[in-house]
Amino acid sequence: AKGLGRNRYHYFTPSMQEYAKYRMLLIRDLRKAISKQEFEVYFQPIIDMNTMKVLKAEALIRWHHPERGIIPPSEFIPVAEETGLIIDIGNWVFEEAAKQSAYWREQYGVEIQISINKSPVQFRDERGSFESWIKQLKELKLDSHGICIEITEGLLLDVDSGVSEKLLAYRDAGIQVSLDDFGTGYSSLSYLKKFDIDYLKIDQSFTQNLASDSDDQALCEAIIVMAHKLGMKVVAEGVETQFQLATLVEAGCDYGQGYLFSKPIPAKAFEEKYILGLSE
Ligand code: C2E
Ligand code: CA
Ligand code: CA
Ligand code: CA
Repeated sequence: AKGLGRNRYHYFTPSMQEYAKYRMLLIRDLRKAISKQEFEVYFQPIIDMNTMKVLKAEALIRWHHPERGIIPPSEFIPVAEETGLIIDIGNWVFEEAAKQSAYWREQYGVEIQISINKSPVQFRDERGSFESWIKQLKELKLDSHGICIEITEGLLLDVDSGVSEKLLAYRDAGIQVSLDDFGTGYSSLSYLKKFDIDYLKIDQSFTQNLASDSDDQALCEAIIVMAHKLGMKVVAEGVETQFQLATLVEAGCDYGQGYLFSKPIPAKAFEEKYILGLSE
């Protein structure tokens, strides 16, 4: 019992108390961030590896914290998921991205498909998103492949949340579906068949080992062949070097995304770099 007591105390180290306090403040600030307009959507180009053109982009949220500067999503998205704040944040990202795509189409006649990350928490919550997203897309006349939703493998295991009906309804509304971080999760290959998915995104950990690890090279090739056989396109994430690009092109990969092409950038920068050149 004595030993247990001592161990218990170890759980309350000052750093943990600090973490709890830090987390509390983060949640407090996160609650106000939407109304204080501290969020911004950045866009990262997705390159078509056959034509080297950019007609797709991923929307990635950025938080400009008034005191702390930019806080990366890896730091606040998990907290937003745990607290349910991700619902409002996710709806906001969707609205911004959809409006941006509609603007580029109206202003420049260029159709950029925008991919939006949607976490399992957002699927489970009935508050809006699903029907209201489809309604908003209809209003913006973006109902034909203007939007793609990125989901992760864990969602496909969630049998009770009506995921497969929702994904079907999205597809009926012209929204495409991407399976993000492929190869890092629970991927049971049978899910790929069951859920009508349009794109597989090969996780960056595979892309980045392409030079050093011939097993990862074999895995990438196998994923691409399999995806194509099942009627899916493949997006490689985290492309940073010419070698990775060449290897992926060689393997028949369809799209690439990564710092080699561009980091995620603000809408205006994306427009200048990728849209002005496309419009006539
Ligand atoms: P993700 O969906 O896997 O997004 C890709 C991440 O990889 C992004 O990090 C992107 O900036 C980064 N990345 C892109 N190319 C490269 C590269 O060549 N090298 C390296 N090292 N990294 C690269 P980011 O923007 O920090 O986002 C992290 C994660 O946060 C995302 O991972 C996604 O899971 C989540 N997230 C971001 N925005 C949203 C959002 O609006 N909603 C939700 N639910 N999650 C989001
Ligand atoms: Ca993603
Ligand atoms: Ca990813
Ligand atoms: Ca990820």
